[in-house]
Amino acid sequence: MSDQMVEIVDNLITKVCDNVNTVVGYVFSKQLYYHCNRLPKVKGRAFLVHELIKAYGLTTKCLIIESVAANDLQMRCFHSEDYLNFVKHVSDKMLSDEDFSEEFISEDFGIGYDCPPIPQLYQLMTHIAGSSISAADAIIQKRCDIVINWFGGWHHSHRDEASGYCYTNDIVFCILHLLDNGFDKILYVDLDLHHGDGVQNSFIHTNKVLSVSFHKYEIGFFPGTGDTNDVGFGSKGKYYSINVPLKDGITDECYVNIFKKVLNKIQTAYKSQVIVCQMGADGLAGDPMNAFNLTIDGYSECLKYLITINKPLILLGGGGYHLLNTARLWTSLTACALNEQLDNDIPDHSCFLAYRPTYELNIEPSLRHNLTSNEYIDNILENVYKNISFKKRTIN
Ligand SMILES: [Zn+2]
Repeated sequence: MSDQMVEIVDNLITKVCDNVNTVVGYVFSKQLYYHCNRLPKVKGRAFLVHELIKAYGLTTKCLIIESVAANDLQMRCFHSEDYLNFVKHVSDKMLSDEDFSEEFISEDFGIGYDCPPIPQLYQLMTHIAGSSISAADAIIQKRCDIVINWFGGWHHSHRDEASGYCYTNDIVFCILHLLDNGFDKILYVDLDLHHGDGVQNSFIHTNKVLSVSFHKYEIGFFPGTGDTNDVGFGSKGKYYSINVPLKDGITDECYVNIFKKVLNKIQTAYKSQVIVCQMGADGLAGDPMNAFNLTIDGYSECLKYLITINKPLILLGGGGYHLLNTARLWTSLTACALNEQLDNDIPDHSCFLAYRPTYELNIEPSLRHNLTSNEYIDNILENVYKNISFKKRTIN
């Protein structure tokens, strides 16, 4: 056998061995990529993330899941007709990013300051919503153990309102699709800096989805919800929303400790069939939100813990306003899902120079004070444990 043949056979054997262990899907389509790069608050972020993941050779180790846009009927499964009609009007009539005519702004539908109108808005929404439906499909069809969709994770949008940079809520679409296909014990985990209000509220009356969100909670901080007493409603939904409010400056060690304790309690009380996790990167040290002090290590530890639960897992993006650090984080988490080690030196690729001056993957924590004291943590955990144990008593 020639050297080249030996290499090809070796690669095939490695691929087969990898697949025997864990198949990791990576959601992508050119249209999805195009539209996500237009998102006003994170313009070009999708490009940085995807290019860095490719530069490390990780896409070749994943099963590529072709993202299919949601159709009109699917869009109406969550959003109201009025909201969709307004968005379609913006889509049809708005010709340039700079055209902020009054007819394209609506306070009622949340289209304005945080979520500015943009051309082709409806198309953008169908591609984003469809991307996480495609992720759910890959799990339903048992094509993957873990599916990654860094283009998704827009957790704030409501049925009839854009909110917090989110025009649509792909996570709700993802979970609805899982529910429609026989899953009725879904664990939703939200690691974004902000409370996952849009997802929680969509499933607040049901015991088929348990939502747990770890986030900054402070008077005046968006969206203003997510205290420990925010537990869900009704005979079925009460205690199926678990909220872990945290303070500025929280470190990896502190965050991971709380995360593992809460998840461990939840797992004991709730045997989930599938896990959907939003991995917003705005809790990273150096993010313009300037709140938490997390690094890649903290997020990776959380992901490793979720993987050990050994259930189908869908990983989604979300916030992340230091665009390069977001690319560093999600590339590292892709490697973590694949059980691959990455070189700390960023490989040469089309965006290489943007990573100056360090050209490294690593993110250092900042020197800020951790306001999440031990006493505060004990108090929060006591309340959270109480909520989980109440749920245990009402378990179906
Ligand atoms: Zn956020």
